[in-house]
Amino acid sequence: MNFGIIGAGPAGIFSALMIKEQNPENTVVIFDGNQKIGRKLFATGNGRCNITNMNAGPESYYSVKPEDLSPVFSQFGPAAIRNKLNELGIPTVQTEDGWVYPQSYSAANVVQILTDALQYAGVEVRSGAKVTKITMSGVKFVLTVEGAGSTKPFDRLILTSGSRAFPQLGANTSILSELFQFGHRDLPFIPALAPISAKGDIFKALQGVRVDAEVTVLQGKNELGSCFGNVIFNDYGLNGPGIMNVSHLISDKEAKDYMLRLNFVPGDLKRELDGFFYQHINRDYPYRSVYLSVLPGKLVEYFFKIWKLDWETSCRRIDSRTFRVHLKRLENGLMPIEGNRGFNFAQAAAGGIPLSEVDLHTMQSRKQKGLYFAGEVLDVLGPCGGYNLTWAIATGMIAGQSSAA
Ligand SMILES: Cc1cc2nc3c(=O)[nH]c(=O)nc-3n(C[C@H](O)[C@H](O)[C@H](O)COP(=O)(O)OP(=O)(O)OC[C@H]3O[C@@H](n4cnc5c(N)ncnc54)[C@H](O)[C@@H]3O)c2cc1C
Repeated sequence: MNFGIIGAGPAGIFSALMIKEQNPENTVVIFDGNQKIGRKLFATGNGRCNITNMNAGPESYYSVKPEDLSPVFSQFGPAAIRNKLNELGIPTVQTEDGWVYPQSYSAANVVQILTDALQYAGVEVRSGAKVTKITMSGVKFVLTVEGAGSTKPFDRLILTSGSRAFPQLGANTSILSELFQFGHRDLPFIPALAPISAKGDIFKALQGVRVDAEVTVLQGKNELGSCFGNVIFNDYGLNGPGIMNVSHLISDKEAKDYMLRLNFVPGDLKRELDGFFYQHINRDYPYRSVYLSVLPGKLVEYFFKIWKLDWETSCRRIDSRTFRVHLKRLENGLMPIEGNRGFNFAQAAAGGIPLSEVDLHTMQSRKQKGLYFAGEVLDVLGPCGGYNLTWAIATGMIAGQSSAA
């Protein structure tokens, strides 16, 4: 059989490899508009490629109904992905909290090994080949490639064209309008895993501070969502996984009274601070040291200014009620924000082809036989930590395997 794949990111590459694994006689052509394949993959994890996460499962993702993702993870969860990577010559290592990297810690090496694997398997790679049109010839798919005319008809077409995130690396979603002929819709893409811009003295004062916090996005009185993670203060606003993981809840276009609530002392940390304080209450122990034991110095200095406290204040001068008020302020760091910094800064996107239009057991379209989807083109978003590559690789493998079965 003849297979056409649009998009040579991780989803397309793994689809192609699985098709060849099913039957080396299958002909596979993979098209990419970029001159080099796997350009986004090359940039992942700051060049270190955080390729999967041992905690990845249906409930890790933001999608309409996360439980619906189970057909994907029951076929290719993170352990199966690591086995496949190992088979391909990409052994992996994991951090204590489950983030998985190639042993080489090199995204460039991963792209090179996968490029070699495609060549070794006999996949035809056409880079610098942007597909602009999809036409049906009977039950087969014919593609029009910019500047190169029409292709031969393909028995199966796999669409792995990604999302609008990071257009500097060639992200392009114009092909999606070609799917309307089959009755597909595309939900608008929303930039995700992006920094958040904000103006205010706090951002200048705390520039460079990194702190773990519980981050909640508020719009008026509504809580739009929250997460726990590292937050980094910058001159333009905020960054870090704790911020990126909620950025899709904030529009990049209209600033509509969004606020962030940062809780700098979530859970156990508050209990620890409580313990320290009551250990030293009524003593000459420096009050600042209670906070310096667990929080960054710059943040403690900032709050001392807000509380109008001298840096030399001792615990003896603080009563329980005042301490409670201070803790409340640390729990309720409210700050107005301007918006999500948009696609140019987004590592992923929500939106795309709705999951209800795809059978996740096979990744085949429910609208058009022979058409398959995988990766970020689908309306699924994972948090920082290797979850998006997990999704791209797992769905790519399923699309390849099932289309060639
Ligand atoms: C800076 C950065 C860092 C990241 N770090 C991580 C990380 O560490 N871990 C993690 O899990 N995720 C990370 N991600 C997200 C991850 O890279 C993506 O989720 C993943 O690459 C999606 O894979 P994909 O194959 O679906 O799409 P893509 O990798 O986007 O590939 C789609 C391909 O389709 C091609 N294409 C589109 N339209 C056409 C067309 N009409 N004709 C031909 N070709 C077309 C594009 O050129 C592109 O190469 C990061 C993203 C960025 C931008």
